[in-house]
Amino acid sequence: MSVRVRFAPSPTGYLHIGSARTALYNYLFAKATRGTFVLRIEDTDEERSKREFEELQIDDLKWLGIDYDEGPGKEGNCGPYRQSERKDIYQKKAAELVEKKLAFHCFCSEEELEAKKAVAMAANLDPKYDGTCRNLSAAEVAARIAKGERGAIRFRSYEKSYTLHDHVRGDVVFPEGMVGDFIILRSDGGAVYNFCCVVDDVAMKITHVIRGEDHLSNTLRQLMIYEAFNAKLPEFAHVSLLVGADRQKLSKRHGATSLHFYREASYLPSAICNYLCLLGWSHPTEKDIFTLDEIGNLFDIKRFSKSPAVFDVTKFEFINGQHLRALPIDELRTRIKDSIPAASLYFKQDENWQKAFLTLFKDKIQFFNEINPQIEELFSDKVEKTDELNEILKWETTGKIIEYLAKEIDAKIGQGKIFVTEAEFNEWGEYIKKTLAIKGKPLFMGMRGVLTGHGHGSELKHLIPLTPLPIISKRISSL
Ligand code: GLU
Repeated sequence: MSVRVRFAPSPTGYLHIGSARTALYNYLFAKATRGTFVLRIEDTDEERSKREFEELQIDDLKWLGIDYDEGPGKEGNCGPYRQSERKDIYQKKAAELVEKKLAFHCFCSEEELEAKKAVAMAANLDPKYDGTCRNLSAAEVAARIAKGERGAIRFRSYEKSYTLHDHVRGDVVFPEGMVGDFIILRSDGGAVYNFCCVVDDVAMKITHVIRGEDHLSNTLRQLMIYEAFNAKLPEFAHVSLLVGADRQKLSKRHGATSLHFYREASYLPSAICNYLCLLGWSHPTEKDIFTLDEIGNLFDIKRFSKSPAVFDVTKFEFINGQHLRALPIDELRTRIKDSIPAASLYFKQDENWQKAFLTLFKDKIQFFNEINPQIEELFSDKVEKTDELNEILKWETTGKIIEYLAKEIDAKIGQGKIFVTEAEFNEWGEYIKKTLAIKGKPLFMGMRGVLTGHGHGSELKHLIPLTPLPIISKRISSL
């Protein structure tokens, strides 16, 4: 039977980064097994669910490179794919369970239930449903409905223990009596999550449920519902939670938690996928920098890790830098454009200059917008007299270098040149070495101090041909 997996977000806000990871795992598993990836929108909470959040979540997923095979707008044979459009299915399925006496009408009011719960808790007893309506006769139910009472539908919980065979958690035993009879359809006719989830997973022929460990406790109720429908269980993999550095569940307290935030902060989608993938899964060759295409069919649910995954922004930034550097230079040039202010002198330079500049500086940045200070520095004619520079300026060899280079640069400017070539730059070095007899540190540090105003930086033979001569000339005059 071919694999069918689903991602089932609730459209109540931006997509949480942990949910994006769940989506990614399902997507990769479907890809690796040539299966089908279903997107199901769990919008039963009418107050909090909004169509605009659904659209934003789908847009962010697509931006990440995660597209679905079936779901809203891509109807397959198992739609509709929004739970709000499946209400009649849940009602029919709940009625089916009532018919088989596996569920029952419950007319207890919210207040009565709360009061009973308070009494049970005060007596240190389990606040489970006390069974008031469990054995109402069909005639009594019919009479109360005819009188206008609107009851809920409660599932008649099985009194036995369950063992879940989970791909990540191993065998998870739920002892008998953990849950009482639970509501599957509220008195307003709305179905609850555990019920919709199983009805849909069965109807959508889901073979593997890959989701966060926070849903492990729901699984007991879900196992009971599968049993009531006599449905085949899917395989389960409850992946470990994302936690902050304090090992607590990742939340706003730890910083940004929405995928959208990282998109806005100009993280690369390939880097996000790479990092999310590593948070709870490991590559078979222990590689930690890869693209989704490189994972291909290597994705395997046996490689999920049991321990909680610590969300580490520093590592995330590092991975972003690795992906940024791996971009072909033409692509980097195209993609970095939007992060540079339109008035920047960068845009006044030709394509070759831009490519050479990006080739030189891409190793220094992890995000597109970090290129701006580098551009500003390159075009700056201001010299800051740091201790390091003052030290260089104290050497008597530096005076000779200044004299020679100032003359050379003025001559080139006089010839209408804006830049020197690497070969011309090398000739300056040769002259200083051979004719002025300056070698070693006084030569290298001296040239750097004079031409850039700094004691350290990128390789001069690449940096100087990118720096306009009038700027270098101004720097020299302010030494
Ligand atoms: N709507 C649930 C959530 O967003 C999905 C749970 C599931 O995958 O079963 O957490």
